[in-house]
Amino acid sequence: MLRDKWIEVDVDAVKKNLQEVKTLLDNKARLIAVVKANAYGHGAEDIARILFQNGVEFFAVSFYYEALQLRKAGIRANILVFSPLVSEEEALESIKNQLTLTIASDNDRQLLERVGAALKTQIRVHLKIDTGLGRFGMNQEEALLVCKDIYQNEQLFIEGIYTHIADPTSPDYTLKQFQQFMQVVNCLDQEKFVIPVKHFANSAVFLSFPNMYLNAVRIGTLLSGQHPVGNYPTHLQLQDPYKFKSRIISLRTLEKGSSLGYYRTYKLKRAAQIAVIPVGFNDGLALEVANRPVGLVDMLKKLAKIVLGFFNVPRFNLYVTIKDKEYPIRGKVFMQMALVEIPYGVDINVGDEVELPVRKTLASRNVARIYVQDGQAGKIAYDEVTNYIVDEA
Ligand SMILES: *Cc1c(COP(=O)(O)O)cnc(C)c1O
Repeated sequence: MLRDKWIEVDVDAVKKNLQEVKTLLDNKARLIAVVKANAYGHGAEDIARILFQNGVEFFAVSFYYEALQLRKAGIRANILVFSPLVSEEEALESIKNQLTLTIASDNDRQLLERVGAALKTQIRVHLKIDTGLGRFGMNQEEALLVCKDIYQNEQLFIEGIYTHIADPTSPDYTLKQFQQFMQVVNCLDQEKFVIPVKHFANSAVFLSFPNMYLNAVRIGTLLSGQHPVGNYPTHLQLQDPYKFKSRIISLRTLEKGSSLGYYRTYKLKRAAQIAVIPVGFNDGLALEVANRPVGLVDMLKKLAKIVLGFFNVPRFNLYVTIKDKEYPIRGKVFMQMALVEIPYGVDINVGDEVELPVRKTLASRNVARIYVQDGQAGKIAYDEVTNYIVDEA
């Protein structure tokens, strides 16, 4: 069966990015590979398998169900779950699958101790400290109390402690967060709470502050082949492993003045070939993250982009690539389709491959990820034997 859309993931690029990160890391700290949000769109199971087969021993995801998916995919490495668990069912599943869990409050401690005691297992946890992101985490006082309780009870083993960065574009704020974190770490240390793994850095901090590696770094963006947004001193030779592809399903010639798409937002300035591509906003095409701008300048940039796009200023169009040439998407993107203008006379056919600008973290999960190695598409082999009990719910 010929697919009408798919995401191509270049396995060699994934390996290359891992190598680049390892080179900079230089065995100074442990690598925690962050594969949350379907490994930033590349497919969590297969990306984790590739990384695991290439020596990564520690993974992290946001939610426990993302970790369970990795267990089902045969990943027998440590998997840290960033978010606290909400219910006993979640805790039970997580503990049975030997996940490494986050304690971000005394509530989390109580839940895990209760469920751990019932299962008669020790649970590996990392403490989360909030130093200025305002998401989850404890302050020093709370962390001290939680440690005292954990040491009395012995149901939990505190393997790690971490905090998360709010604004790596600001060295001052990052340093402030780091100092606050180290103050908590030192305070627990003085109270003789021994915590082996301390981690602070994400991709941006990893590039900027080698003095903040501590003994582990949490890296997602760089492994996915991108530099974090912002100016950072160190650059790695990264390769984007991701390509969103489709095929032309219809092609016809329309006259000058023909209007294109719903609400007729575009009129052809000259006769042209119009290709229909079976990819629309339902697949992630033309989607943007409509989040708060980071400041006045960012807000004006976003505004300018909308205005210039409206007046069809070429640089602000969306483009697809066919046979190494770029062609503009015209009119409003449909739910499941889009129209592309190709000049009259260009040799193009129905069935030709098209590459589309769909952001990897917004690309629909329903689109198949195809892993390509040495020019061959194939499955990532994996070891089916797993030590973990996985309840098929
Ligand atoms: C997403 C995330 C990371 C990874 O950040 P990158 O900038 O993508 O490397 C690290 N830590 C936490 C807690 C995260 O949520």
